[in-house]
Formats: sequence, C-alpha cells, structure tokens
Amino acid sequence: MVDLKSQYQKIKTEVDHAIQEVIENTAFINGPAVQQFQKDLETYLGVKHVIPCANGTDALQVAMMALNLKPGDEVITTSFTFIATAEVIALLGLTPVLVDVEEGTFNIDPEAFERAITPKTKAVVPVHLFGQCANMERIMEISEKHNLFVIEDTCQAIGADYIFKDGSRKKAGTIGQLGCTSFFPSKNLGCYGDGGAIFTNDDELAKQLRIIVNHGMVVRYYHDLVGVNSRLDSIQAAVLKVKLQHLDEYATARNNAATYYNNAFANCPNLKTPVTAAYTNHVFHQYTLVTSGIDRAALIDYLGTKDIPAMIYYPVPLHLQKAYLDPRYKAGDFPITEMLSNTVVSLPMHTELDEEQLKHITSSILEFINK
Ligand SMILES: *Cc1c(COP(=O)(O)O)cnc(C)c1O
Repeated sequence: MVDLKSQYQKIKTEVDHAIQEVIENTAFINGPAVQQFQKDLETYLGVKHVIPCANGTDALQVAMMALNLKPGDEVITTSFTFIATAEVIALLGLTPVLVDVEEGTFNIDPEAFERAITPKTKAVVPVHLFGQCANMERIMEISEKHNLFVIEDTCQAIGADYIFKDGSRKKAGTIGQLGCTSFFPSKNLGCYGDGGAIFTNDDELAKQLRIIVNHGMVVRYYHDLVGVNSRLDSIQAAVLKVKLQHLDEYATARNNAATYYNNAFANCPNLKTPVTAAYTNHVFHQYTLVTSGIDRAALIDYLGTKDIPAMIYYPVPLHLQKAYLDPRYKAGDFPITEMLSNTVVSLPMHTELDEEQLKHITSSILEFINK
C-alpha cells in the first residue's frame, strides 16, 4: 500500500546525516532534534504549541486527560474510524457516543453530532478521515453553542488546509482546542518507528499537556498529576525534521496519483471516486473507492494475483466491534457507516507511485469489472 523504501532513497543523504548527528551527540531522549522539530512543526502549522509524544493514540489520550473530564462524561465521535479514537475514550472511563458519517466525505455528519449532544456531553472528536478535513466551521459553531471541547483527530490529514467561508485557511488540527496526530511510518508525515504530537493554541492547555506526557512532573521528582510517559525520541524527531520539509511535495504527489485514479475510473458506474468537500483540500492519506454491483472480495483477490495490494478501511464499524458492543447500539443504527464498511476499497497510495504502476493498477481493476 505504501513504498517507504523508494521514498527513503530520495532523501537518504539528509536522513542518514540527521540520524548520525543524534547518535554522535547521544542525546537520545529530549535532545535538540526534538525541540527543533517541534519549532519547525509549529511554524509549518501556524500553531502556538506542538507537544511531541510517543504515538497518535497517546496524543488522543493525553489530550483528553488535559481536559479534566470525569468518568461518565460523554465524548462524541464517528463509528467509521480507526479504533484508537474510541479506545482512549473508553480507557479513560469516559463514554464514547457514536454518530454516523456523511456519504460523500466519510467524515462526521455535523447534524448527527448535534442530535447526539446530551447534558453529559463534554467533547467531540472529529476525525479528518483519509486526508480531508471534517466540516470544522459547523462543528465549531455547534460546539461553541453547547460549550464542548473539540479534539481534532488529524492522524490522517496532517498538512491539509481547512478553508473557511471567508476564504481564510487553517491547517487541520489547529482549529479546535486540541489537535492530535500520528507519525506512524505509513502516515503522511511518518517517522521510522512510532511518534505522535498534540497541537494547541491555548497556553494553559499546552502547559498541562507537557506535564502529563512527562509523568505529571512539574519540578523533577515532584508529581502534581497522574501522568504518563509519552515521548518522541530524538532519532524519530531528526527523521521528521527532514521529512517535514518534503510534506507539501508529498501531498502533491499523492494528489497527482489520486487524479490519475479519478480519471481512469470516471466512466465506471461500479466505482465512486472520492469526493472532496469545498471547505478542505485533500492530502489523500488513503484513496478510497465506494464499489457497487461488484464482488469486492473477488476484486481484492484478483488484484492480489497481479501483486496489487488493496485494503478495506474499515471492515467493521466501531459499534459492531466485539470489544465495543453496547446495548445502546445495534446493526442498522449507522446506515452510511455500515454501507461504507461493506463497499469501500482503498488502493495503493503513496508518494512514489509512477505512471506505469498507476496504469497497471487501474487497468487491472477495469479488466476485473469488465470481464
Ligand atoms: C493512525 C491513527 C491513530 C493512531 O495513531 P498511532 O500512532 O498508530 O497510535 C489514531 N487515529 C487515526 C484516525 C489514525 O489513522
């Protein structure tokens, strides 16, 4: 699905040098590379504070810990996302409240979000799924009205722009009180191991977040809060500092691949190509088709015989996952989410796809459909 080897070959000199520098000065934990990357990312995103941490799941957990939510408080998110979004809500003893997504964008339906608000609701986690922003202007409006925190899950959309009605832009993850991202290798800004970060423009929250990721420690060995140990290590930060400089060109490469796919499938009634909302650009973490009238499993098998990987993100919605079964929910509750789980297929999407590969992938798919 991704080709990290070819991507590395192109930046090998820069990356090797950056890693070597960390090894030479042996500042493996909280070394200068971490601070430098943090500053670079703050500048790139136009956000006041970036708090690096160990992975995207921790970023979400620490973000929620900083909001002082209490057991039983409700946090709203969608049923069509990676499990981590709901996992941390459950782990903190909060109550995940799920809502359906929009058919076009696969992102949280703001009106479904508003309908799910109760007196216990404290926060919402819009997920910018597959690389485009959820409808943040509407979500912020509703959240302000009901006094809710907004924690953006930007794990799949780092670098995407949200475009407001007045034409101004902000980076995904910098609109709500908190934004969370992952630097998992296959993410748009991926390191060579695990990594993550939290973004905020709020000085008080930033202070709180920095304390929580460091064992709740304010002064060394004096612990004011129950915290966690969640750090981005210096080698990963050094890699990320290099790769951040290429993030926009990576987004362009992904968009070029998406355009090739879109054109190839434009006249195929069995495949609905991705829809990008007017209020966002798309950084195509995934390129995801909605299939109809074809046997999806057979298509994936057929592609397998041609050495083309294809994946289903996500085959089981959260409300139908064994660990999250809840008497509040049953099959049929979220018709769009369930329809998507049954019909979507994601194609190879990365920065190194060339025309020959794209041709092989698209012609194989059309061959299967027209056979
Ligand atoms: C990848 C991902 C996460 C978790 O990130 P990790 O770094 O793997 O912990 C959370 N939410 C979404 C939407 C993701 O895609």
